[in-house]
Amino acid sequence: MNLYLRRTVRLADPRPEPTAADLSLPERLFIPLRQHSGPAAEAIVEPDQVVSEGELIGRPDPEEFESAPVHAPCPGKVVRLVNKPLIGGQTGPCVELEPTGPPSEVPGELPQSHHEPDPGQIFGRLAAAGVVASGIQALPVIRDMTPYDQDRFLDRPEGTEVKSIYTLIVSGVDREPGLAHQRHLAQANHPALSRGINAIHTLSGAAKTVVVGDSRGGEARSLAGLLDHGLRSAMTVDGGLYPNGLKPVLIKTVTGDETPLPLGDPREVGAFFVRLETAYWVGLAVALGRPQTGKWITVTSPDGRCRVMCVMLGTPVGHILENLGVSPAQGGKVIIGGMLSGYTIYDLQTPITKQMGGVVVLDPDQVVRFEPQPCIGCGLCARVCPTRLVPGMLSKYCEYGRFEAAEESNLAHCIECGLCAYVCPAKRPMVHYFRHAKEELLAGRTAQ
Ligand code: SF4
Ligand code: SF4
Repeated sequence: MNLYLRRTVRLADPRPEPTAADLSLPERLFIPLRQHSGPAAEAIVEPDQVVSEGELIGRPDPEEFESAPVHAPCPGKVVRLVNKPLIGGQTGPCVELEPTGPPSEVPGELPQSHHEPDPGQIFGRLAAAGVVASGIQALPVIRDMTPYDQDRFLDRPEGTEVKSIYTLIVSGVDREPGLAHQRHLAQANHPALSRGINAIHTLSGAAKTVVVGDSRGGEARSLAGLLDHGLRSAMTVDGGLYPNGLKPVLIKTVTGDETPLPLGDPREVGAFFVRLETAYWVGLAVALGRPQTGKWITVTSPDGRCRVMCVMLGTPVGHILENLGVSPAQGGKVIIGGMLSGYTIYDLQTPITKQMGGVVVLDPDQVVRFEPQPCIGCGLCARVCPTRLVPGMLSKYCEYGRFEAAEESNLAHCIECGLCAYVCPAKRPMVHYFRHAKEELLAGRTAQ
């Protein structure tokens, strides 16, 4: 399946405000035991147990290499294990924690390392720190790297074919309009970024590293600080044009190769892809042994303000909005992720997880209301689909429950970019259809 690199959408995309907001300590954190698309961790704490910052509270499944540990983001007392809403209409078990103090600040300088850790040490630190690549389909960062000596570090499922990684791609481009935390990190240029990129470079065994910046602002210039040895180069893309910031598109832009779908594993074209935020958490894990207990997010309020901040995992979305003075109005929307591919949530107690990148709040008059109409066969969706699908036909299969037919028409190749829904004159909820069909197909397989 060829990626169709047509630059199709430019949405209003305000500049992020440069200072991160200081949030008050929430009364409760609800820390999900499953914060990524891999299997859940198992709670190892009990009610009334006092935990310190960074303490392990959820142990990963030792049989599942896509499972990740969960740590306490701050000191606190465990209240109970409770189910809370997550994205995608699901609920999941969370450790309810009563914070007793704020998290420690990330130091502006990191201790110098006289001996760079070897690949085995890096692998061990990242596995223990639970660093997860950013994005809805996020998996532990170690999962996608071909280690220096893979048999030594990781049992891969039988039949998994991995190639050596030639190109490490580090993206400072935000995934879609409305998200700004990758750009913010590029400008901040914290030393953890450089340490993280070095560590990923070492562990992946990549021959070269390409740092990609957004050409719109000063971020590209600040990326120059990350290019500290000859194996790195930089390039810029216009992150304001969607879908330039999506992973398969960036991989093609950098390497010229298309990641074969539906697996979409960059190793099949000898690449490894991370966003700057992932490099940040990797840098902290390697330099300080600090687990990933936070998430960089972009909060966009109805007045168009766009604020970037790092929040503790498990912080309820409502607490963040309250601190920012944003009150979602009845009839409005709160979207997790971006405007084109995000998920609407219905409960402000939904906690922040490692998967989430954006919180967009819309007032009722900003929500476009429509009744989906039958497809009129105009073909606009097929013209914009980056994976060359025929979304109109696919959506009809999904709408009428013909999930197998949708699968045969390459439903799995859909990267849920939302472009087809954006251009559809019949206002068909295309991504909803596709996500529903994928879940039904998966559920059918699991039940067999
Ligand atoms: S969401 Fe639509 S445009 Fe995007 S990949 Fe899927 S079918 Fe194509
Ligand atoms: S854009 Fe909408 S109406 Fe046009 S073919 Fe695609 S699904 Fe049908």
